[in-house]
Order: sequence, then C-alpha cells, then structure tokens
Amino acid sequence: MMTFSQLALSPWPARVFAFTWGCVWGSFVNVVVYRVPREMSLVRPASRCPACGAPVRPLDNVPALSWLVLRGRARCCGARISPRYAVIELLGGLTSLAIAEHVTAALPVTAAPWHAAAVFMAEFALAMALIAAAFIDAEHMYLPDPITIGGTLFGLATPGLRDLTWLDSLFGAAAGFVGVWLPLVVGYKMLRGRAGMGLGDAKLVMLAGAWFGWWGAAFALFAGALQASVAAVTLVLVRGKIEEPEAVRADREELRRAAAEGDPDAKKALEEDPLATEPGEGLMAARLPFGPFLCLAIVEWMLAGDWIRDRLAWRGGW
Ligand SMILES: [Zn+2]
Repeated sequence: MMTFSQLALSPWPARVFAFTWGCVWGSFVNVVVYRVPREMSLVRPASRCPACGAPVRPLDNVPALSWLVLRGRARCCGARISPRYAVIELLGGLTSLAIAEHVTAALPVTAAPWHAAAVFMAEFALAMALIAAAFIDAEHMYLPDPITIGGTLFGLATPGLRDLTWLDSLFGAAAGFVGVWLPLVVGYKMLRGRAGMGLGDAKLVMLAGAWFGWWGAAFALFAGALQASVAAVTLVLVRGKIEEPEAVRADREELRRAAAEGDPDAKKALEEDPLATEPGEGLMAARLPFGPFLCLAIVEWMLAGDWIRDRLAWRGGW
C-alpha cells in the first residue's frame, strides 16, 4: 500500500496547492461573513458588488489578486472595497498551508494517505469556520449557532482523527461549556448584574473541548483571555478607548425604533439583550468581542497543541 511519505515526496507542488485551495475557500468565507448576519442565502445569488449590486465577473473574483489589481476599488462603480476581502482570502491560504505542514509533521510517515487527507480536511474545515466566526463576531458581536454548535457536533463525531476517545471529546465539550457558562455567564450576572461573557463564547469553548479535549478548552479560554487583554490594552494606548462595533450600534438603533413603534419582540429584546444598552465608561465596561481571540487560540492549539503540552510536561500525567 502506498504510504503518506511517498505522497509527500514533492512538497512544493503540495504547498502551492494547499495555499491556492485555502485562498479559494477564503473567498467563500467572505460570502459567509457578509451574508450570514444579514440572513441571506449562501448559494444564491452569485457574488455581487457590495456597493452597486452588479454581478462580479469571474476574472475579478480571483482571491486577493483582483483586489490588488483593481487597487481596492470595484470595476463596476469604483466604490472602495474593504481590504477585509483580500485579508480573509490570504488568511485562508496561509492557514491551509500551515495545516498542511502541521499534518505532514505530526503524522507518522507510515500513515495512509486517506487518513492524512481526512485529518487535513477536518482541520481545514474547522479553521475556515473559525475565521468566519471571528470576523462575524468582530463586526456584529455574535457567534452564529451553526458554527459553534455545528462545529461541536463535528468535533464529537471525529475524535479518532485526533487520537482522542469519544469520552475525551464529550467530557471536553461539557467541561468547556460549563467552565465558561457557570462562572462567567451565571455567576458574573449575579454579582454584577450583567453577563461577563456571552453564551456564544461558552459554545465556542465547548467546541474547543469537543475537538481537543478539556486541555484544549482550557488553553482556548486562558490564551484567548490573555490575547484579548493584550489587544484591549494596546487599543487603549493607541486610540485612547475601545470603540463599540458600528453594526452593534446600528442594530440597537433599529431595535429602539421598532420598540417605539410598539413591536413587542423588540421591547423584549431591549430588556434582555446586554448589547441593547450603551456601553459604560472604563476598560472593564468596554465592549471588546471575545470570539476572535477564542478562535485564534483554538487555531493555535490545533497547530501547536502537542508542542505546548510537551513544554508543559503534561504528557505523562493527564
Ligand atoms: Zn459596484
């Protein structure tokens, strides 16, 4: 039988393929980031200019390159196109490349090619979903259930790809959810009158546990919090304050208008949704979405978890 090492004999074509593959899917992640919060279909219609609605020509839809060639403007109407589109496409390519390198290094050379392909595809799908979740949360401060819960179920279904037992995966998911939900959602609310973290964050840590066991969930939470703190301090030092995302403010105004016109659902949402009040003053009350930092930490653990665990000498123990 052919082994994985025989497939990996020519790494450069494989690297170019992995990068291109990631850029193409990064282009789809852009569609998810734009359409899911607007409750639009992911398949129809084909890509349109976000400014004037003209269909995008296939040649102008080449990941990242089109944005560079057109210098960040739409060919149809000349509107500025956010660099976010090119950034997400390149991020997709680089992440795909990193996962390919990681799979090559982590699997034994005797591994069957189909096994290597399954590990790559699973990790790649998770990474693309996390990139989408990170950008949606950064803009709208919410994490879509299809990503957090769907990703958890995917993790529970595939523990064998990561040398985990089904019980490791189940316990990790439960520990991840309860470990965030109990102290940071329920407990915090009792103490301070509002949740310290959203339910979406708890579901994202649950996903980390389903994929990588309870240590993966613990790493996601602590590394995520550390990175968020560094970002918060940096933002305050550079800009003087942490701005609430524009879309969150717009959603709140929309909700207030609906409530003023007597919509009962809008009134209920205004009373219950913590985002429905203006953010308070000071660093502790600032609204920094936590999801992007959790997503980053989960990808870090996926790529370097083994290495980190070796350094922490947990291997022989738990
Ligand atoms: Zn246009």
